[in-house]
Amino acid sequence: MAHYIVLLGPPGAGKGTQAQIISKTLNLAHVSSGDIFRENLKNQTELGKLAKGFMDRGELVPDDVTIAMIRDRLKRPDCAEGALLDGFPRTPAQAEALAEMLNEWDAKIDCVPYISVDADVLIERLSGRWSCPTCGFVYHAVYNPPKVAGICDFDGAALYQRVDDQSETVKHRIDVYMEQTSPLIDYYRKAGLLVEVDGTLPIEEVTSQLLKAINEKVG
Ligand code: ADP
Ligand code: AMP
Ligand code: ZN
Repeated sequence: MAHYIVLLGPPGAGKGTQAQIISKTLNLAHVSSGDIFRENLKNQTELGKLAKGFMDRGELVPDDVTIAMIRDRLKRPDCAEGALLDGFPRTPAQAEALAEMLNEWDAKIDCVPYISVDADVLIERLSGRWSCPTCGFVYHAVYNPPKVAGICDFDGAALYQRVDDQSETVKHRIDVYMEQTSPLIDYYRKAGLLVEVDGTLPIEEVTSQLLKAINEKVG
C-alpha cells in the first residue's frame, strides 16, 4: 500500500528542510511543487514561462496547471510507493483534486503534519534563506549555515537567494497563505488527518516530532 503524506505550513515553516530529511528516513519520494516550478523556470519550459509571473509576485500558480503538473509527477515510477508532498495542496480545490486522484488509484492520504510558525519568525527565516542551485539543499545564514559562507557543503556550488524571498514579496506570500491555504488546516483536521508540530523548535527537534507523529498515524 502506497503512503501519501502532506506537509502543511506557511512559507518558511521548514517544509522543504524537513522533507529533505524525512523523505530519506521514510523512503518516500519528495514531491515539492515549488521545486518543480523552479526547475521548469530554469529550463525555460512553457510551464516555467507560465508560472514565472505568479511566482515572482508571490501569487499562486492557477489550480488547473498546478494540479495537472502534480498528477503527472505522482504517476512517475519513483512515486510507486507514495510520496511526501511539500507545498501541494495549497487551495481547497487542489485538496479536492488530490483526494480524487488518490481515490482513482485506490490510495489515500495517511496523515497531514502541520508545521506551525508565527508570521514574524517566517519573515526572519525567509530573509536568511540560501538555496543550492545544484542539489536543492536549503540553508539559513544563522540557523543552518553552510560550513563556508555562500558555498554548498555537498557540491561546492555558489548558494543563491530566491527572488521571492525579498521582504515585500514575503509579506504578500504570507497573506496569500492566510487567505488561500490556511483553510486546509481545518479541512484536514475535520478529516482526522491533521497533526500539529511546533515549527519554532530547532530543526532536529521538529524532525523527531514529525517522525513520531507520522509513525503514530501510519503505524
Ligand atoms: P518552507 O519549505 O516551508 O518554505 P524551508 O524549509 O525552506 O521552508 O525553511 C525556510 C528557512 O528557515 C530556511 O532558511 C531554513 O534553513 C530555515 N529553517 C527551517 N527550519 C528551521 C527551524 N526549525 N529553525 C530555524 N530555522 C529553520
Ligand atoms: P514554495 O517553493 O513552496 O515556496 O513555492 C514557490 C512558489 O511556487 C509559490 O509562491 C507559488 O507561486 C508557486 N507554487 C508552489 N506550489 C504551488 C501550489 N501548490 N499552487 C500554486 N502555486 C504554487
Ligand atoms: Zn548543493
